[in-house]
Amino acid sequence: ASRSVSLLGLGAMGTAFARAWLAAGYSVTVWNRTADRADALVAEGATAAASAAEAVAANALVVTCLLDDASVGAALEGADLTGKDLVDVTTGTPAQARARGEWAAARGARFLSGGIMAVPPMVGVPEAGGYVFYSGSPELFETHRAALAVPVGTRYVGANAGHAALQDVALLSGMYGMLAGITHAFALVRGEAEISLKEFTPLLTGWLMSMSPTVEQVAAQLDSGDYTSDVVSNLAMQVAGVKTFVGTAREQGVSPELLTPYFDLMKRRLEGGQGAEGVTGLVELLTRDGNG
Ligand code: NDP
Repeated sequence: ASRSVSLLGLGAMGTAFARAWLAAGYSVTVWNRTADRADALVAEGATAAASAAEAVAANALVVTCLLDDASVGAALEGADLTGKDLVDVTTGTPAQARARGEWAAARGARFLSGGIMAVPPMVGVPEAGGYVFYSGSPELFETHRAALAVPVGTRYVGANAGHAALQDVALLSGMYGMLAGITHAFALVRGEAEISLKEFTPLLTGWLMSMSPTVEQVAAQLDSGDYTSDVVSNLAMQVAGVKTFVGTAREQGVSPELLTPYFDLMKRRLEGGQGAEGVTGLVELLTRDGNG
């Protein structure tokens, strides 16, 4: 593969990707809908294309980093994709990625979908640990793996073009659950003059870290199908504690709305007779018993 790439989309992330390739000595052709966003990169050595079609024509490897899947369709409309290797790192759903892959194949291009697990300051900084999930054409990934590894690390997760998006969204969904917990925890304590956030904050961090092995425990139980072995906090005990959580929120004048959906699932699983389990069985409620 040649050390050249066309990049469509110069938002915060696209600009960071472009800079990483320029710093690594790549020849970079850029295009952005609002053309003047390319000016700084041109000063740093990039070539600005006058249109998206011209950017696509410039190199075999074409990377799109746009707002959403609709903007990818809009930008590439009218471009000749024959023989191109299209890598779309725009965030979207798994079905959008699969459809975009079929769309690209119908236009004669190989396709790879990416899910970026990094924020712009992590791009070009290997020790920051960022990476992109890639799925789709294994041949495309092999051909361009060196170029793709320049901005952040790469993790190829299979030929199903939707699987990069799926794993990206799964990781971020885990994060949002954690953010909900952090939000509620600070809402509980921040009004108390005697509680210093300076002292409380490292305790919350430490607690979340010490609970993180739950990820491994849930995975092991899902694999084995045995949800009751080695349970240290059983559901019956945890549901008995719900009134304490809701009561404390009420006493503090804090809405329990971030926690109650999770508590409701715990109660349903307990009512189903699974009080000896931990929380692994809740995965089944979301995926099998309706309401999911
Ligand atoms: P920005 O909002 O900074 O940039 C959006 C880009 O999309 C701009 O180049 C914009 O062009 C372009 N665009 C929007 N609509 C259209 C359209 N209809 N036609 C053509 N171009 C369009 O986003 P980011 O760079 O931050 O993000 C890009 C992708 O990377 C997103 O899918 C995002 O989810 C993903 N990502 C971002 C992360 C982040 O922390 N920033 C982290 C992980 C993933 P214009 O300049 O003309 O408006």
